Amino acid sequence: MAKNNPSDGSATNASRNTLANVISCLSDYDPDALPVPDAQAIIRQFIQPINAVEKIALRSALDRVLAADIVSPINVPSHDNSAMDGYALHGNDLSKDQDVKLKVIGTAYAGRAFDGAVNSGECVRIMTGAVMPAQCDTVIPQEFVRDASDTGMTIPAGAVKTGDNRRLKGEDLKAGTPALQKGKILRPADLGLLASLGIGEVPVQRRLRVAFFSTGDELRSIGETLDEGCVYDSNRYTLHGMLTRLGCDVVDMGVIKDDPDVLEAAFRTACENADAIITSGGVSVGEADYTKQMMAQLGDVGFWKIGMRPGRPMAFGKIASNGKEAYLFGLPGNPVAVMVTFYFLARQALLHMMGASAVEAPPLLRVVSQAAIRKRPGRTEYQRGILSRNSDGIQQVRITGSQGSGVLRSMSEANCMVVLEHDRAEVKAGDLVDVILFDGLV
Ligand code: AMP
Ligand code: MG
Repeated sequence: MAKNNPSDGSATNASRNTLANVISCLSDYDPDALPVPDAQAIIRQFIQPINAVEKIALRSALDRVLAADIVSPINVPSHDNSAMDGYALHGNDLSKDQDVKLKVIGTAYAGRAFDGAVNSGECVRIMTGAVMPAQCDTVIPQEFVRDASDTGMTIPAGAVKTGDNRRLKGEDLKAGTPALQKGKILRPADLGLLASLGIGEVPVQRRLRVAFFSTGDELRSIGETLDEGCVYDSNRYTLHGMLTRLGCDVVDMGVIKDDPDVLEAAFRTACENADAIITSGGVSVGEADYTKQMMAQLGDVGFWKIGMRPGRPMAFGKIASNGKEAYLFGLPGNPVAVMVTFYFLARQALLHMMGASAVEAPPLLRVVSQAAIRKRPGRTEYQRGILSRNSDGIQQVRITGSQGSGVLRSMSEANCMVVLEHDRAEVKAGDLVDVILFDGLV
């Protein structure tokens, strides 16, 4: 595995960055009341992208991060061509006030050009995508002409203007111009664009390897007996889903018991085998366990109370074991808090590590709140919402039932998160609120 090797660059660069250094740039840092934007800024400054590139086949590059700028080697399209089925002609022959009769002297097909000369008064039957005959600059769609036969047709006065329905050489991309930029996450359109340039292999950043485990003696894995007072571990499944969607290689390490030796071994294994570690549980204030202790012992880790709901407690930093380093995100245990802290704190950091350029949160939409929402200023709240349209077609949102941070059902029923910013107070019915959609065109 290519992890923290010298050419990788991640460990070496990152080692100069300490949390204390990063935090010293913040004017009033209080780990016990850290606003979300400050936590995001600290994480962003602390994290270094991994720098390891691999060249892969175009189809495999879907959702991967492009590792170099792609300059177009050719003009797309490579020739002027027709945008319609019709007739290619000289714009000079057109008239605004009288019908024009032209002689048809041949046909140009897509992939089979018309080679002859086209003189004034003549035209060529042409198909969509066919190369424009040398002297022609205009295409009239076939449905616009009159009295069409194999030998001639009539153009009604003013039916088209010079240059109409002609696609210009290089109109999509000119040879030598940048087609895609380094850091772009490749979507289906990008695969198509690269294919249109004849590029079959692309350099991408290697996948990020993320190890995760759950902590808590009350947790049971699927298939185990649910003893009195125990719950099934759901966090490893939401994390699996979120990390996989982000394009990470995941290493699921299971449930780790609250035993110092077992915990230490787990942190070390994770650190030696992954770029980042995500744990859930064991970072709350009153935790009587060894998770926090072990995090502090193995690295440079801050323990925060973030001004957010859900998801107040969180640990962040970097741990080391046997010369290998990994970033650590110690997320809270509550199932909704795990998802919210992942989406709004860990996700951006992981994208940054992956070398992606668009690491900001997805766009917020501002919509009408159907009902009042309780909210206190001084923390960012992430409520689970259902976005719909009212009878007038206006977008509106309502929050899903119970918003308890353990109620995963609210997350499952929601199609968006309602983001109530730090300073915001009570929301009244009809007020505008920000939402982030869970799914776009995936
Ligand atoms: P903690 O942050 O460890 O105090 O956990 C807060 C709450 O989340 C407790 O009710 C835990 O039982 C629950 N919890 C912690 N980890 C998980 C998990 N992996 N799956 C489901 N619930 C969990
Ligand atoms: Mg716990």
